[in-house]
Parts: sequence; C-alpha cells; structure tokens
Amino acid sequence: MNDVKKQIDDLVDILNRWREEYYTLDDPSVEDHVYDDNYQKLLKLEHDYPQFVRKDSPTQNVGNKILNNFQKVNHDIPMLSMGDVFSFEELKEFDQRVKQNLGTNQIEYNCELKIDGLAISLVYENGKLVQGSTRGNGHIGEDITANLMNVDTVPHQLNDDLSIEVRGECFIYKDDFAKVNAKQEELGKTTFANPRNAAAGSLRQLDPAVTKKRHLSTFIYYMTHFENYGIKKQSEALNFYKNLGFSIDPHYRVCNSIDDVIDYINEYTEKRNKLKYEVDGIVVKVNQLTYQNKLGNTIKIPRWAIAYKFPPDEKETVINKVQWTVGRTGVVTPTAIMDPVQLAGTTVSRASLHNPDYILKKDIRVNDYVSLHKAGDIIPEIGSVNIKKRKNNSKPLVIPTNCPSCNSKLVHLNSEVALRCINPDCPAQLVEKVIHFASRNAMNIEGLGIQVANQLYSNGLIQDIGDLYSLTSNQLLLLEGFGNKSADNLLESINNSKNNSLERLLTGLGIQHLGSKAAYQLAKKFHNINNIINANKDDISKIDGMGSIIAESVIDYFHNESVLVLINKLEKSNVNMEFINTEEYDVDNYFNNKTVVLTGKLDQFTRSEASEWLTNHGAKVTNSVSKNTDLLIAGHDAGSKLVKAQEMNIEILNENQFINKQLNV
Ligand code: NAD
Repeated sequence: MNDVKKQIDDLVDILNRWREEYYTLDDPSVEDHVYDDNYQKLLKLEHDYPQFVRKDSPTQNVGNKILNNFQKVNHDIPMLSMGDVFSFEELKEFDQRVKQNLGTNQIEYNCELKIDGLAISLVYENGKLVQGSTRGNGHIGEDITANLMNVDTVPHQLNDDLSIEVRGECFIYKDDFAKVNAKQEELGKTTFANPRNAAAGSLRQLDPAVTKKRHLSTFIYYMTHFENYGIKKQSEALNFYKNLGFSIDPHYRVCNSIDDVIDYINEYTEKRNKLKYEVDGIVVKVNQLTYQNKLGNTIKIPRWAIAYKFPPDEKETVINKVQWTVGRTGVVTPTAIMDPVQLAGTTVSRASLHNPDYILKKDIRVNDYVSLHKAGDIIPEIGSVNIKKRKNNSKPLVIPTNCPSCNSKLVHLNSEVALRCINPDCPAQLVEKVIHFASRNAMNIEGLGIQVANQLYSNGLIQDIGDLYSLTSNQLLLLEGFGNKSADNLLESINNSKNNSLERLLTGLGIQHLGSKAAYQLAKKFHNINNIINANKDDISKIDGMGSIIAESVIDYFHNESVLVLINKLEKSNVNMEFINTEEYDVDNYFNNKTVVLTGKLDQFTRSEASEWLTNHGAKVTNSVSKNTDLLIAGHDAGSKLVKAQEMNIEILNENQFINKQLNV
C-alpha cells in the first residue's frame, strides 16, 4: 500500500514539474507522449486507490500557475482541459457513456482537428475586441490583449455589434515555425521545441511587436453563451463564428455514428503531415448543444467531448558523429549525423543539436541511440536518448573551444546560449555571407549557392562580397564544373544584381536583426545608402515597426570602418545604392511566392483589383484550384472552388482575413 502511495506521489511530482516547464515556462523537457503515458498511469492508480488522490494532482487541475508578468483575468465560465483516448476501443467506450447518459442513440458528433497551439479567450463588447487572455489555470488566465491584437486572424471589430466571449486555439503555421526557429538559431537564442511552444512563447511575452513578427494564427471553436443566439449545433456555431469574421478550421465534419468518426480519424491520420499546421489528434464533440448541456462537465473536462490523440510519429536511430558548422553571424551550430530513417514522408539523417546547453541537458553522445521526430512535421528533432542501449565506454560529447573553420577561440556573447566565432575574417562566415548576399530575398544572384561560394573562396577568387563584381569568365572557367554557358549565366546574374533597389542590398549585407521587410522600410524612408549611413538612432527607430533594437544594429553596422570600405568597393563596381520606387513588394509579405485563386464575390474590390494587388505583392494568381494552389480567397457565394479547396486542405481566407493580411504587408 505504501508502495502505491509512493508511486502516486512520484508521478504527481514529476508530472507537475513537466507541467510547469510546459505551461508556465514554455520550455518542455519531455515529449508529449512521455507526459501522456505517465498521466495515464497516474489516472489508473488514482482510480484504483482514490484515497491517495492529491489535491495538487494534475488529474484535478487545469494548466499551471500563471506568471506575474501579466494582469490576471477571471474566467467566469472555466476554460477546461479535455479527456484523452488513445485507441478506438476507448473511443467506443466514450460513445457508450454518452448514449447511456443521454438515454438515446441519436447522437451526432462534430469531429474537429485538435490544433496544437494554446487555448485563448476573446471578449467583445458591442462588436469591439476588449480583452484577450490565456487559459491559465482554467479559472484565472493571463491578459494578453495587446499581443492578440497583433494576430492577423483576431478581428478587432466583428461584422455584428455583439457582446460575446469566444474561445479557440492560437497557433503558428509549420513554415512560420521553421522560420522562427531558424532566426532564433541565427541570433544565438534558444529554439522552440515545437510549434505549440513557439505560439505560446510568442504570446506569453511582453512585446506585441514580437508577436506580430511571428505571424500567429487562430481558429475559434467555442463561445460561452451560444443559447442567446438560437444556435442548436456545434457545426452551426462554427459558421456563426465565421460570419462574424473569425477564422475557423474548415476541416470539421458531422458524423452520425462512431464508425464514421473512426473513418474521419483514419483519414486525418493519413493527411496530418500534409496540413500546414500541426495537429496532435481529433476532438470529437457531441454536436447537439442541448445534449452538451445535459452532459455537463467534471471539474476538469467536458463530458460531451473527447480528444483522440495520434500515436507519436518517431523512429529510433543512432548518432554516428556530430558536426560543428559556422554560420554567417559566427554562431557555431552542432548537427547530429545519424543512420537515415524514414520520418513523416522523408528520409532524415541530420538533426540540429542547436547549442552546447541543449546537448548537455539531453546528454547526447556519439553512438547513442535516440528517438527522432519532426517538430512541427518539418524540423528533425531528437526527443530522448535510449540510455539502456548506451555502451559502457561512452563519453560525454566534447564541446569545441575553437572555431572549426579558422581555429579562433569561441565565445558566448552576452550570455547567449550559442557559441560564436568572432573573427571577422573567418572563412566559413565569409562563405555564408556570400550565400546570404546572393539569396533570393537579397541580391537574387542565381547560380551562387553553397558549392560555388566555397569554390570561389577556396580558389582565392573572393575575399568579400565586393569581389563578386570583379569576377571574370576566365577565372570561372578554371573552376570544376564550369563551362562557357554556366560562367556566362553566373556573370550575367551578378551583373543584373547591380540594378537592384537598395532594400535588396541592405538585406544582403546581413545586418543583424534587419530582415527584408525592415530593409524595405529603411530604403523607402532614406532613399539612398548615404542617408542611412548618416541617420541617427531616433530617425530610424521612428519608422513604423522598426524599434530601437534594429536602429541600434543599423547604426553599429555602418559605424564600422571595414563596412564603409566594402560599401565604397560596391559603389565603385556600380552596384546601385538608391531606392528605386518601383512599387516593389517586400519579399517577406504573406502573399509573396504563393499561388492564389480568387473565388466568390468580394465587397471591397473587383476581382481584377484584388488580382492586381496580389500580383504586385509577388503572388501568382491562377483560375483553378489544384495541388499547386497555396491559398484560396473566398468571397460571398463561393461555390465549387471553395469545396475543392476544403477537400484538398488548402488554406482559405475570407475577405476580412484577406484585408487583415494586406494591412500587415
Ligand atoms: P489537451 O491539449 O489534451 O486538450 C484540451 C485543449 O485542446 C484545449 O484546451 C484546446 O486548447 C485544445 N484544442 C485544440 N483544438 C481544439 C478543438 N478543435 N476543440 C477544442 N479544443 C481544442 O489538454 P491540456 O490540458 O490543454 O493539455 C494536456 C496535454 O498537453 C497533454 O496531453 C500533453 O500532450 C501536453 N503536455 C505536455 C507536457 C510536456 O512536458 N511535454 C506537459 C504538460 C502537458
């Protein structure tokens, strides 16, 4: 008996520690399925030995304590968690319970994707957004209104002057998650373990400008007083939210039997990797709202809904070596090279180990067997080490003290987690700088990738980006793989880049914190590079969306003598230093490079106005929905194109959402 009590106590303690890491600190140390397995063990023990259930058990509480950084918000109607099932057998038991409790077999279920983000509440008064908050511990949440105001899909004004509270999920698209983590790594900061944490970390911090940059999204799936609006079903309620201007997940389906629910789950178990956002399961909700009311809630979960959790998609593999590489900003990143495994549709053999702290925390070593998954279905990530398979003679990984490229001493700048090489002449950094300079968002020099940049450097043809403009055909022909045609093409592409508008050059210089969007604003405001060099911090930070960090970084950059020498060299090669106001869109905008289809009737634009605007902002507008379509913009009375896009899981924006996204461009 004492043994059982100890087991329960130990489980409560470890689960509560994990909960604090996950909910309060947004920095989990274990995978969700490890948490879920232990939670299920605890549930079973508590069921068999109710006398040992602790008040602070995770089975009795929602979420975790909230941070003092935020104002507190009371949830008059608690924001609950949800019961989990992991098999169809358990799902059928849920169905039986529902039918028994209601005394009827006429149950409809509304199946929805379980979006892996964090729950939010939005309160509107007379149609105007007045408060946004997190779930917190279910009764008290954190006031994050200012941050939620910076999420595109959160309307500031509804299409109807209602006073309502809605709830839903705030999340980040997989590709935005990958961008955020790449940026974090480049800046020497800690990366997010998964999209859920990236979304939570972007909302539960104090700078609304950071939230805006991370491009979060929302889906609404609940409101507190649906009975006031004559709504009878969850599926109807979703349309009600949509008509008010909220974004809803279009993949829901009403099922008339538990077998249909299972078909839906099977379908999305297949499709989940192809979705543009991460889902960790399927939420099955009794569709009839009167039945939901009859079933009610426990202190922690509703009795009218259950979450079917997808099994973890992970594989075991072995680490053969760890490679340390130097990036453009000097950050030295470790990468695990592993035996290849098939994961979420691709072969994976490399995973970033981010920084030395990460390696030490997980105690990752060469020859270790590790579980590998894809964070956000995109980024290969090591979950944990299989210690049982570790050899006796295994040794902790040696963290380098010197740069793998130039051998200079490595440092941690300003207590960054990353190791950095600060030698300005480090060859690896130079090659990375050239690649960045030539990249599509910067000078857009076709044919100048990693291999060519390495060849140019190792053959002594370039020492800095300025040397690109004095390359000759004869020099290129000496390099392996180059013929007359490829040499001419590269030189033509380099030559064309001289005519780029100033913002591309600014982006290409790789000034810390200055992305292509900010570079565009800077170029537009100051017109030429000399004005920027002579600008002061206040002038720059006043530009909308710029702020003091970017301003400081720009000033520091141009106060460096060697930078001025480089600018001079580029100028002498006739590289354009002026902003050419060609209405050039900024390349970071939401629509750039997307294939977009317009359908239905828009209120604020004619079809050709919308199409012209999209084309001017880098989108390709086509007529029919196909597998190449990235986005459908659907006005009123949209017909078959909308249906097809929904079936194909293509992202859909209504007119309000389209306008909100335009405002952010
Ligand atoms: P939950 O995430 O299992 O389910 C409830 C939540 O689902 C809701 O609050 C809502 O935010 C979300 N949701 C997404 N789509 C929804 C939809 N269509 N309809 C309704 N709700 C939807 O419950 P929880 O209490 O929020 O979190 C528990 C889970 O969190 C665990 O199962 C585990 O996976 C994870 N967790 C992990 C750790 C860790 O250390 N890795 C620690 C604590 C919790």
